[in-house]
Amino acid sequence: MKAEIISVGTEILLGDILDTNSQYLAVRLPPMGIDLYYMSKVGDNLQRLAETIGRAHKRSDLVLITGGLGPTEDDLTREAIALSLDEEMYVDADMEQRLRAFFAARGFTFPERNVKQAMLIPSAQAIPNPRGTAPGWWVEKDGRFIVAMPGPPAELERMWEREVTPHLADLTTGDVIASRTLKTIGIGEGHLDEMVSPLLKSENPTIGVYAKPDGVHLRLTAKASTQEAARRLIQPMEEELRRLVGDAVWGVDDDTLEAAIGAILKERALTLATMESCTGGLLASTITDVPGSSVYFKGGYVAYTARMKMNLAVSAELIERHGTVSDEVAADMARAARANADADLGVAVTGVAGPDELEGKPPGQMHVAVDDGGPGLSISYTYYQGRAATKRRAVTTALALLRRALLARG
Ligand code: AMP
Ligand code: MG
Repeated sequence: MKAEIISVGTEILLGDILDTNSQYLAVRLPPMGIDLYYMSKVGDNLQRLAETIGRAHKRSDLVLITGGLGPTEDDLTREAIALSLDEEMYVDADMEQRLRAFFAARGFTFPERNVKQAMLIPSAQAIPNPRGTAPGWWVEKDGRFIVAMPGPPAELERMWEREVTPHLADLTTGDVIASRTLKTIGIGEGHLDEMVSPLLKSENPTIGVYAKPDGVHLRLTAKASTQEAARRLIQPMEEELRRLVGDAVWGVDDDTLEAAIGAILKERALTLATMESCTGGLLASTITDVPGSSVYFKGGYVAYTARMKMNLAVSAELIERHGTVSDEVAADMARAARANADADLGVAVTGVAGPDELEGKPPGQMHVAVDDGGPGLSISYTYYQGRAATKRRAVTTALALLRRALLARG
């Protein structure tokens, strides 16, 4: 079944809102065996909308539309479907009755403008929407389908899950798609691609290599008649990939780096403390995003000035000699965090968040260190993509270094 998605709303074209509805629907189609060929975004304009819907209906078995079902004059999705299919709209008496009751039950007077939410065309059936006033439309014409759903994500999501998916499942007969993502860190994208290259020719499952903020992802995607069969195709390939890549794989699918590290700390009954300059507490915040992190996270310092660092027992001499943005001071911050908190591991970040330079060092210069009572680990780099991204990257680097330290302890 070939599908396309149309998102309706001038707000989207102006960049005022992000079209998250398309993404919501897009990730849900391949597991159902529905092939998505196009996505379009159209403003609240009757002619352009009707033209877009008409073209979509001609070339696709299933057209999914979101938005434009509200009561206001610029909500034109129903009108545009009617126009593109050359059908007349009429007020459905039952629907009007239900709509008036919906308002009455909440003690609101009924705005006559809302009558349009009780309209249908001969090819359309209403789809219930208990989360709002706008019913959806299920349109069947010439053996093809148009499904119009409301724009507000909470309404769309319920309608999709509860009302639309069950009907579509009856119509689709093709293969379904399953996927599995292996998340790696510590090996660059190009190098990883080379390591797995013998497998990249595989057609089912296919393997994709994607650089992401939390490392490089290897995504396996398989097609088969059922989800189970697709997963069976993925499994041996996943094992082979894990063999090639080794312990660079830190998680799968929705796993986060902070949760993966938390699991290791918990399992080994180890504790952790942080000291941050430059990331302003983001490292501690990220570590504590994981439920139950208080078991292993003893606490963190946010220390910006040299004075603050010295108060926390960071060496004045090292600061004097190397500056606060240095490997030496990062390592001593990690040591101090660990010692002060009486933790097993200390992690520290110091660097230049930018956009201005600091101590003659450029924005994006970062020093990250882990101290576990042994020789310790540190890493430094310079990479600038703006202040917020620089802070996030430093946090990811700190977590990755922490993981390396944990693996090295064995
Ligand atoms: P509409 O039904 O088009 O008037 O949209 C009503 C509201 O739903 C908008 O103001 C947005 O807040 C939300 N919305 C509409 N379309 C989308 C979309 N494609 N993605 C995310 N939110 C949307
Ligand atoms: Mg609107």
